Amino acid sequence: MKNKIFLTGIIFFVLGFSQKKEKIPGAILMDKVLKSEQEWQTCLTPDEYQVLRNKGTERAFTGEYYKHSEKGIYTCAGCENELFSSSTKYDSGSGWPAFFDALDKSKVKTKRDLSYGMIRTEITCAKCDSHLGHVFEDGPKPTGLRYCVNSLALDFKKTN
Ligand SMILES: [Zn+2]
Repeated sequence: MKNKIFLTGIIFFVLGFSQKKEKIPGAILMDKVLKSEQEWQTCLTPDEYQVLRNKGTERAFTGEYYKHSEKGIYTCAGCENELFSSSTKYDSGSGWPAFFDALDKSKVKTKRDLSYGMIRTEITCAKCDSHLGHVFEDGPKPTGLRYCVNSLALDFKKTN
């Protein structure tokens, strides 16, 4: 009897161990981009570094993509992760590029941000953890969301 319990224990241990190696079912497989702060400083411009790695905010109405209306995909300036489609971009009047949806929810991570005496939800790139901006609940239909993103956190890939 004791032996049986012992064996069952081993089986559960082995099963548990092998399961840990597998990815969670249904999750999109994504290789994380991990860089040291020094590597980030080398591959980003000082302005990009300030936004992406130090959670900075570019001045309103100054960003490259605020008034940008070409068709394509906006990618993360840190790792080229595809984040937003031009089809969800709209003019929020805020001075920063705004999207009412992410390309895929798994590509953009959200986290409560209590800095500067405000309750906001920070958005980061799920692949490289870079700061992108914030998401607010005052966006247009169908989502009611406003992903407010720094131009400096984005690159753009044109599509036809
Ligand atoms: Zn990224």
